[in-house]
Amino acid sequence: MKLEGIHHITAITGDAPGNVDFYARVLGLRLIKKTVNQDDPTVYHLFYGDEEGAPGNDLTFFEYPGAARGRAGAGMVHRVVWRVGSPEALEFWARRLGDEGIEARLEDGALIFAEPEGLEHELAVTDVADAPLVAHAAGVPDELALQGFDAVRAFTADPEASRPLLEEALAFEPRSERELEARGTQRGGRIVYDVTDRGGVPGAGTVHHVAWATHTDEQEQWRERALAAGARPTPVIDRFYFRSVYFREPSGVLFELATIGPGFTADEPLETLGERLALPPDYESMRDRLEQTLTPLPDTQRWRRASETSDVP
Ligand code: ZN
Repeated sequence: MKLEGIHHITAITGDAPGNVDFYARVLGLRLIKKTVNQDDPTVYHLFYGDEEGAPGNDLTFFEYPGAARGRAGAGMVHRVVWRVGSPEALEFWARRLGDEGIEARLEDGALIFAEPEGLEHELAVTDVADAPLVAHAAGVPDELALQGFDAVRAFTADPEASRPLLEEALAFEPRSERELEARGTQRGGRIVYDVTDRGGVPGAGTVHHVAWATHTDEQEQWRERALAAGARPTPVIDRFYFRSVYFREPSGVLFELATIGPGFTADEPLETLGERLALPPDYESMRDRLEQTLTPLPDTQRWRRASETSDVP
């Protein structure tokens, strides 16, 4: 039994319109779900991903309107590492980000930058055989596009603290001194620990949690293994697009184990993912009011590439 790499990563934005502009227009991801926070339907939960909304390329944001910028510290993910296909992709992204006034630096063959609210990203050329998970953006050729998550980097005060839970209960494999990988039959994803004693401040531009992908019928077993290893997992929670279990790993990073299905087509067709506000059944009766009061967002359709078939006369 193995986890299938990173399922999704959830972060915080204080500026939902700016967030949509950056991730859908500049980074060329598809806005695959526009829904509300299940605990507070007056604010968004936005999901970005590839064309299919597949686990493995799914970056999500809780909206806290006007939230001050946070700062990653011990027990927090501080960088999202994405796969790209070639060194040419790094050149493309350095230029594209530069045109947006975003400074990117090349370091050890990877491109590192911070988005407008401070969340750090790294684009890395990898040679894994995992299927590239790509969105069809108007301004980004597919061969240069982001291909999904490779890793998260997290801060810890004690790099050895997390190893037993991850290796023994969650079947991660050590890759180097401070690096562990969850590799299943389809995909792999890593967590790399960087040492700091500095405490973090949650807020805009910080990561809330990282979710690892589990086969649906194995979730309960993972939960029990985490529990037996001393973690304190929540019960299974129905998130409609997947089912979730949460716990903090020993360094303090909030982990989620999320099922691969049912996926984002549970409540709308693949063709129009993310176009309409998606509401959990309990909030459907509030739709009119929520559509009036939620922050207006830019229309992302103009940043998408028209499908090949629609160009045929
Ligand atoms: Zn999550």
